[in-house]
Amino acid sequence: MTSSKKITRQTVSLFHKKIKEAKRIAISGHMNPDGDCVGACLGLYTYILDLDGEKQVDLLLEPISEKFLFLKYAEKITQEKTGEEPYDLYIALDCSDTGRLGDFRQYFEEAASTICVDHHISNQGFGDLTFVIPDASSTCEILYDIFEEKKMSFDTAQCLYLGIVHDTGVFKHSNTTRRVMEIAGALIEKGVRPDFIIDETFYKKTYIQNQILGRALMESILLLDGKIIFSAIKKKDMDFYGVDSQDLDGIIDQLRVTAGVECALFLYEKAEGQFKVSLRSNDKVDVRKVAENFGGGGHVRAAGCTVEGNVRDIVNNITPFIEQQLIQEENV
Ligand code: AMP
Ligand code: MN
Ligand code: MN
Repeated sequence: MTSSKKITRQTVSLFHKKIKEAKRIAISGHMNPDGDCVGACLGLYTYILDLDGEKQVDLLLEPISEKFLFLKYAEKITQEKTGEEPYDLYIALDCSDTGRLGDFRQYFEEAASTICVDHHISNQGFGDLTFVIPDASSTCEILYDIFEEKKMSFDTAQCLYLGIVHDTGVFKHSNTTRRVMEIAGALIEKGVRPDFIIDETFYKKTYIQNQILGRALMESILLLDGKIIFSAIKKKDMDFYGVDSQDLDGIIDQLRVTAGVECALFLYEKAEGQFKVSLRSNDKVDVRKVAENFGGGGHVRAAGCTVEGNVRDIVNNITPFIEQQLIQEENV
């Protein structure tokens, strides 16, 4: 296994060598794919096909949000493996562990060779060749550094820009470094239009998405002197509005920017009695540590987990972990 917390000339050439030598490749990302995951998967897919149009590559990803469908080759995303034989090479993107690959995990495990590119601090480094760079804003930023700039097409650039925009919350989270802005500048020089990507994929909402956002905000509850805010959407309400989980994007960010709030929680019911919990913090709480107590993970300021139970019990179980960190912070 070659594991690297830095991108070196040696690991980059190994990356390109593995792709060149593999006949059948799978590119894959995490369950419930977000902008970085979609950008990384499609960015790598276009990059490989631009180099060799004959290469057989499966893009194994759960169905993506409609707002990303304008990206080149978005229609190639599939949940079906081609052929019976294991893949020669399986590339996992934006996944902190193989469990995040969901139903595709088995294909990763049986592949002849594997690569992992990720920026989650909890990633222990899995796969034959790993690029795990927690300081990177996004998986797309790491891919930018791996790719040869002159071989990057407009379509690849657009995907990478999208991933960076989403994981930095449009260049404003603490992961927005000088390097991020330099890369964004280079991608703009490739023809990417920031206004288009940012409005179409980040800010634009359908009427129904706005309605459910409004409802989540209206029903939100403040706890701990307004330092914690939470809101939840039940399955029956999602069915009533005819929305899926991707229509709920952005609710958590709006909760987080409530004045006085340190930590926001948003829950939606994935299945009867099972909730996906998103956690975001402003500057005092490490939400990854909170989520890890419930089998989840993520980053310091953005994390998630899936928990069984009812809303009240879940919130009551999670908030003491947040409170504990806030008390420690006050005593420093
Ligand atoms: P989300 O709230 O789903 O947008 O997730 C925020 C961050 O936490 C992302 O970086 C995810 O990769 C990570 N994350 C979300 N859910 C989980 C989970 N169940 N296990 C591990 N990491 C997660
Ligand atoms: Mn992600
Ligand atoms: Mn990411």
